[in-house]
Amino acid sequence: MTQRISEGKHDWELIPSGTDEIAQLSRSINQMSENIQYYKHQRNQFLADISHELRTPLTYIKGYSEVLANDVVAKEEDKKRYLTLLYSQSIQLQRLVQDLFELANLEQGAFSFEFKRTSIEKVILNALDLMSDSIKETGIDLKYDPSPVSLYVMGDERRLQQVIINLLENARKYTPEKGAIHIATFAREDCCIIEVTDTGSGIPEKDLPHIWERLYRVDKSRSRTTGGAGLGLAISKEIINLHQGEISVTSREGAGTTFRIKLAKIT
Ligand code: ADP
Repeated sequence: MTQRISEGKHDWELIPSGTDEIAQLSRSINQMSENIQYYKHQRNQFLADISHELRTPLTYIKGYSEVLANDVVAKEEDKKRYLTLLYSQSIQLQRLVQDLFELANLEQGAFSFEFKRTSIEKVILNALDLMSDSIKETGIDLKYDPSPVSLYVMGDERRLQQVIINLLENARKYTPEKGAIHIATFAREDCCIIEVTDTGSGIPEKDLPHIWERLYRVDKSRSRTTGGAGLGLAISKEIINLHQGEISVTSREGAGTTFRIKLAKIT
């Protein structure tokens, strides 16, 4: 076995000299080194994305506060407008920091979940209580079709509610006025299904595999005006994974989107 300095993906590479155990070991070490390089690249990309996300609201906050502090805005109504913008940018910044913190904790298993027998109907009704006014205000029709059979899962009620709220928020953000959002639950033999369907913008096929990634947004400029940072689905997926469940999506651009959650059923 020899070692060489390579100009490839990593600085060094072990060259297997045969099919013996040592050669196999060197192949494993090369593979590990490639993996380390891959994760380093992913981490750097993520840090670059976060810096960008943080820089945008901070730039606005700095700009608006400078203008106000230097007393160059004469009209009272303009001052108010700047203060409102300042406020909304700080809210966006706060939400981004909160979401990043939450996702990091979820991924490290640092959050304790309170698993107990949980009614799916209760989770959905609580989420609807919080969301239905803001959905209806936008002129969107909202319908809920519960399964005729009561559904229970072993889950953390608050966390599951957070997922449903996130899906409803997204459905509202990406559905135009006069559109519709439909939430339905179904009983299967050993699992229950929750579906959140909207008649909104839909998601292009090429973006579908990526929407679960941290900070991924289909239309960055549009999402920025709607206040999303692209963390909601990453958080939701993590929560459903921690319930040993599955979350999936089907969508047609221009026609709408369905998010589907599958969780093991208990009696
Ligand atoms: P965001 O906070 O930007 O909404 P998410 O992680 O919740 O972040 O979603 C990631 C991206 O997936 C969104 O930016 C949007 O482009 C797309 N998306 C999510 N839900 C929907 C939906 N119901 N309809 C259309 N696009 C959606």
